[in-house]
Amino acid sequence: MHVIVCVKQVPDTTNVRINPETNTLMREGVESIMNPYDEYALEEALKLKDKHGARVSVITMGPPQADVVLREALARGADDGVLLTDRAFAGADTLATSYAIAQAIKKINAKPDLVFFGKQAIDGDTAQVGPGVSEFLNCSLVTYVQKLDVKGDTFVVETHMDEGIDVIEGKMPAVMTVVKEASTPRFSSLSGWSSAKKTAIPKWGAQDVGAVAELCGLNGSPTKVVKIFAPPVKTGGTKMDGREEPSAAIQAIVKVLQDKGVLKA
Ligand code: FAD
Repeated sequence: MHVIVCVKQVPDTTNVRINPETNTLMREGVESIMNPYDEYALEEALKLKDKHGARVSVITMGPPQADVVLREALARGADDGVLLTDRAFAGADTLATSYAIAQAIKKINAKPDLVFFGKQAIDGDTAQVGPGVSEFLNCSLVTYVQKLDVKGDTFVVETHMDEGIDVIEGKMPAVMTVVKEASTPRFSSLSGWSSAKKTAIPKWGAQDVGAVAELCGLNGSPTKVVKIFAPPVKTGGTKMDGREEPSAAIQAIVKVLQDKGVLKA
């Protein structure tokens, strides 16, 4: 069994600020981490390695320093990793990102059994890349996986839906996005880190994965970001306690609504 996990390096968003002049993220001095949702995806793959001896490969697309998240995945137990990095990928929207990642997956293995993604990235937040890759791979897609069992070429998953849990059975190969309810990610061990540091991580560019230039980076990105802004901080509002004198509170609320033009005076 071969499982490929896509992990993204993201800024630790508790620290991210937006430059109000340029509407861009201020990444300077901000620590980068493995996208937290991808830790759950990796853990599901490692559980398949523990149980069925699966080979676990990890891919990330990003700048050269994004190899850190691959090493972290290797330290936790992944077998090999690939860094997709090329100026041709710069400015990629979710479509162009999905295309590049799908090309890399095809190069690693034309028919992997499972490809795992986190539910979403905490910086971009679109949750589009997993579904996008499944389209490029022409492969079944199951989203919001919280429990997974595999027998032969069949999988049975529980997916975390708003109104309950769906149980889905299907045949591999399949692309899946994993939610945090799946499990608790394991820690990396000291020996894991020591071998991860020694593992060679190939760097692949657009040409290496046979990507067509028109479909990569800005060229292949139909989405245009018009503006980025932080939502305004909401104040606590005005509290009126009507327990002592309900009619006074009601009058005060009516006056506020009239002043705002919601109610006619
Ligand atoms: P989601 O779809 O929310 O991620 C879901 C899952 O997909 C993740 O949990 C992870 O498993 C996987 N995944 C997502 N991204 C990667 C990745 N890179 N490698 C491996 N796995 C991944 N970003 C830039 O850094 N530089 C730019 O110049 C840039 N320009 C952009 C221009 C436009 C017009 C747009 C719309 C976006 C741009 N972005 C840029 C953001 C970039 O498109 C997204 O970061 C990227 O497509 C992933 O989307 P997302 O963050 O919403 O991931």
